[in-house]
Amino acid sequence: MQPNSPQLVTTIDELRKKLLEVRRAGRRIGLVPTMGALHEGHLSLVLASRESCDFTVVTIFVNPTQFGPDEDLDSYPRTLDADMRALARCGADLVFAPANSEVYLPGHQTWVEVDTVAKPLEGSCRPTHFRGVTTVVMKLFNMVGAEAAFFGQKDYQQALVIRRMADDLNVPTEIHICPIIREADGLAMSSRNAYLSSIAREQAVVLSKSLRLAEELVDRGELDAGQIIERMREVISAADLAKIQYITLADPQTLEPVEEISGETLAALAVVVEDTRLIDNCLLLPGK
Ligand code: AMP
Repeated sequence: MQPNSPQLVTTIDELRKKLLEVRRAGRRIGLVPTMGALHEGHLSLVLASRESCDFTVVTIFVNPTQFGPDEDLDSYPRTLDADMRALARCGADLVFAPANSEVYLPGHQTWVEVDTVAKPLEGSCRPTHFRGVTTVVMKLFNMVGAEAAFFGQKDYQQALVIRRMADDLNVPTEIHICPIIREADGLAMSSRNAYLSSIAREQAVVLSKSLRLAEELVDRGELDAGQIIERMREVISAADLAKIQYITLADPQTLEPVEEISGETLAALAVVVEDTRLIDNCLLLPGK
């Protein structure tokens, strides 16, 4: 039997009309925001939504305002037909895939900006990125009015920034953060992995390898952040196509760097492999 395709809507009007019926039927709405080119990581968010909600809305929108001027907005993969098939298989109910002009009115001049927690790591490499993310996510929250929204730990800082925004602006949507889904060799799934040449794809495994090493070192009692970062750096530098943008061990709530691992600690990194910028992270737990 063919699985049912989710309904595809492209305008805010249609979306609101459809969701009004759903809400009137007393159904709990879950939201999964994405930029499309869907993989198992995205689909795990749909499954998480289906577990706790009655109706799952997936948004597919390559949001121009979160890309910097020299980034990959034009070349970002757009695979709507394949995405619709994947979403049918995992039981999404509705897909909202608006055009840019539906989301941003001419003369748009309102931005949602989170302060301190958006500044380090991704914020320091991509200065206008989070303001684009928080603005579009707030817009999606307002359009969909979901009871719950699902984000991946893959973009750890993004999830933290969105949670901060939701708390600060009294957004009634619950924010759920779901685990990172990885390829068999450990590489975190990402739509941008499609850019990797076969040699770069092989070398990209150094990101997750360095995080596994950090976990092992902490398990063996190494608590000095500088030492751990040095060892992670060695693993990554063994790949000649890899250029490190940052490796940080930081407080998982404030993102302030730590010198000593004394409690749960975020290990996060950004590495350019050949021409593709990849990020990954894990939470280190000393004495576990
Ligand atoms: P994107 O399409 O890259 O904007 O991602 C949409 C959502 O999927 C975000 O909440 C991401 O954190 C999440 N996501 C992306 N990759 C993964 C992954 N490998 N595992 C879990 N969630 C992911």
